[in-house]
Amino acid sequence: MNLYIEQAVADALVAAARRAAPLEACGLCGGRDGRVSVFHELANRDASGEHFTMLPEDQFAAVKAMRAKGLAMLAIWHSHPATPARMSDEDKKLAYTPGVAYLITSLADPSAPQTRGYTMRDGDAHPLVIHTIETQQQGDAT
Ligand SMILES: [Zn+2]
Repeated sequence: MNLYIEQAVADALVAAARRAAPLEACGLCGGRDGRVSVFHELANRDASGEHFTMLPEDQFAAVKAMRAKGLAMLAIWHSHPATPARMSDEDKKLAYTPGVAYLITSLADPSAPQTRGYTMRDGDAHPLVIHTIETQQQGDAT
């Protein structure tokens, strides 16, 4: 399975991860047709370097903003300030939203941030192939 992420979003994920470090950052990615074009950073209510919790009202607001643009939530994102971009046991346990990808940006190597994606199936995380693509021009005719 493939996921396409526009360059501007890929950059925004790394920037958000860096701003929040040493705490975890989190947010929601939206788009359509497997192509991620928007990122909404949300507050990590846990204010922790090892886990994150997003407020439901923040998530609703982000999803509503996506829908207003004709987009859907495609991925749930968080950062790992010091560990690899792999789903931790806790991440897997909390990954209960069906039909979305889980993205993790790791700053374990601060000079080479890495974003990886997973889908959850049968309680386990399966890697996605992530392609970074050119940012689409604004001004979709709607
Ligand atoms: Zn995690």
